[in-house]
Amino acid sequence: MVAHARADHPDEACGIIAGPEGSDRPLRHVPMINAERSPTFYRFDSGEQLRLWRAMEAADEAPVVIYHSHTATEAYPSRTDVSFASEPDAHYVLISTRDPEAHELRSYRIVDGVVTEEPVDVVPSYPYAQNPN
Ligand SMILES: [Zn+2]
Repeated sequence: MVAHARADHPDEACGIIAGPEGSDRPLRHVPMINAERSPTFYRFDSGEQLRLWRAMEAADEAPVVIYHSHTATEAYPSRTDVSFASEPDAHYVLISTRDPEAHELRSYRIVDGVVTEEPVDVVPSYPYAQNPN
C-alpha cells in the first residue's frame, strides 16, 4: 500500500485488500485506478470497481481493507471520504505521503458518518492463510 501510494504521488493512490468473507483477514492486495488522477481526491474507476466487487462476490471475498493516500495532508479521512464510505465492515486505511522520508499509515472504521480510529498491527504474513483449518 505504501509503495503504491509513493508510486502514484503526487496524485492520490487507492485500492483494496480483499480477504475471505467474514474472516477479517486482508490477503489479496489490489491496487486500483484513481479515476480522478487528482492530488486532493480519489474515486474508484466505476467499471473497475464493478468488476472487482463481482469477482470478490464470486470468490466469497470481501474488501477487508479499503485504502487511499493523502499527498499533502494527514492520514485522516476527509469529509468527502466519510460521505463516500459505504462498507461498514471494512478497515479504511489512510496513508499520508506528504513527508518524503516517513509515511503515516492509520486505520479507521467509518460507520454512519462516524469515524473511529483503530490500532494497526503490521505482520509479515498470515501463516495460517494457506490452511484455514
Ligand atoms: Zn481522502
